[in-house]
Amino acid sequence: MIIINNADVLTLNDADDAHFGGHVVIDGTRIVAVGDGAWPGPAGEGDTVIDARGKLAMPGLVDLHYHTAIGKGFSDHLPLWEYLEACWYPLIRNLDPEAAYWAAMASYAESLKGGVTTVNDMYRQLPALGKAAEEIGIRAVLSNDVALPEHDLDTLETNQEAYRAVHGLGDGRVEVYVGIEWLPLGSPEMLRDARALADDLGTGIHIHLNESLTEVQDSIKRFGQRPTEVAYDAGLLGPDCVAAHCVHLSDREIALMRETGTQISHNPSSNAKLGNGIARLPEMLNAGLNVGIGHDAAECNNSRDLFEVIKFASVIHRANRLDSSLTQAPDVIRMATRNGSDALRHETGRLEVGRKADVILVNTNTLAFTPLVPGDKAHLYSHLAYASNGSAVDTTIVDGQIVMAGRELLTVNEEEIVREANAAFARVLARVEKAKA
Ligand SMILES: [Zn+2]
Repeated sequence: MIIINNADVLTLNDADDAHFGGHVVIDGTRIVAVGDGAWPGPAGEGDTVIDARGKLAMPGLVDLHYHTAIGKGFSDHLPLWEYLEACWYPLIRNLDPEAAYWAAMASYAESLKGGVTTVNDMYRQLPALGKAAEEIGIRAVLSNDVALPEHDLDTLETNQEAYRAVHGLGDGRVEVYVGIEWLPLGSPEMLRDARALADDLGTGIHIHLNESLTEVQDSIKRFGQRPTEVAYDAGLLGPDCVAAHCVHLSDREIALMRETGTQISHNPSSNAKLGNGIARLPEMLNAGLNVGIGHDAAECNNSRDLFEVIKFASVIHRANRLDSSLTQAPDVIRMATRNGSDALRHETGRLEVGRKADVILVNTNTLAFTPLVPGDKAHLYSHLAYASNGSAVDTTIVDGQIVMAGRELLTVNEEEIVREANAAFARVLARVEKAKA
């Protein structure tokens, strides 16, 4: 068992309970006790007892729209479509399995160090990603970059093979969804086939929808409909479908998301950096959509620190609507934890007895959390959303396994990951340059 005592516990449960100086106890992969005061025990031999004085315990973060990244810091000035052609597609077309493995290791390591316990990762070479996720200990939902064959990315067959090879690894911690790159590289028929495959496999779907105005215009030109309307008619949408971005949704498209129970990943910092715009989050929330948060990719968002995205998700709508009452601190923390977990139909996202034990400890005995009023829940939420960042995370526990303690990753060698990820990028870049020549 893992026994965490003396923590300020934010449970994120329906009642939004907090326990100051409380405990969280984990047995195997699940939470078995949460409450006030120290756990009455007794602790047995071999149990790990953590004194979490000066720390808060909360559910691990869920990065609901994620791509493993092999490179970053290139094409930072380009709009989405040009950026994809100049940077993203050449890199992912030239991946080898080993490069994908080290890129995933670097990505997951950075995420775990920032308190992210689940990633919804759309990328390529899924067996390599699954191996990385299994070894490092992160919870991962993987999907391919499926596009029409002429675009030289993945096909539904690749995705199906990946499902057979990877789904269920790590005692079920690693899953495979059907992933659709985006409609400009797809067709209504492909979306219908993707839905049929997902239903056949009994799994979910991950897609980019309505990310940019150019995407919406392209869809209207080619199909006579907006992207979400095309997806709706193809039967793609549903509670098992995560639609990323949804920046340019019409009122009708928001209603279609609502009607189908489609899950939304809001990625405001990526949308801002790429010049795509600001999603209609207040309207989506008013419509009752379940909205989580994602960083998107380090290639286009550069940082994988989800706390940065949390802050962005709160403040950008206030700036845009001239309304400081929008998206308050507890709202955005819920989006990054329980909403993301619900979107993936996981048993995480709240510290409750019986749930899977994805737990993080955040250091509050720091300048970023000063001053801190003892016993004040609202103050903790405020500091988490606005004053802190991922480097405040001290301990990360996934599925009952401590993967980071005292900011040190326990499952992997961080120095080796940095070295190998750099080498992998150099190798892939050389292949890209050679293909261009
Ligand atoms: Zn994306």
